[in-house]
Amino acid sequence: MQDRTVDQPIIHREANADFRWEGVAVLPYKEDERALFSAITKQVLFSGPDFDGELRYFEIAPGGFSSLERHEHAHAVLTFRGRGHCLVGRQLKRIEHHDLVIVPPLTWHQFRASFHEPLGFLCMVNAKRDRPQLPSEQDLADMRSDPEIAKFLLNQLSED
Ligand code: MN
Repeated sequence: MQDRTVDQPIIHREANADFRWEGVAVLPYKEDERALFSAITKQVLFSGPDFDGELRYFEIAPGGFSSLERHEHAHAVLTFRGRGHCLVGRQLKRIEHHDLVIVPPLTWHQFRASFHEPLGFLCMVNAKRDRPQLPSEQDLADMRSDPEIAKFLLNQLSED
């Protein structure tokens, strides 16, 4: 039978066990080497010249966290695996799988996995985006003035 796959674009990637996809590299998360983060992998699921955006899948190991940052671009996040907490601006939310999180422009944000399982989420972003900004000591002090946010930043929120 004629091989119809020759010179055809990739239109399907099979999902493997454990939140991996055929032909998609599992990358260590190193988007910003200045930022403090812990135990994250990144897979770019959709990107390229035909899209203005990218869809990535991030996975944070139990007890790990993303960098605390802000930037002009926005994020649309769909929690895909596990649970944890997120800080967006001054709002602290417990997140469960299938919850949606919107990160508006220039808003401090951080995601933290629970201690029991990985936190996996899909993240939609602009393909062209500005570099993340990191908080100053004053920014951190402002955030810590809220006791719950202070606990979150120390990974000390109750998981009950
Ligand atoms: Mn971000």
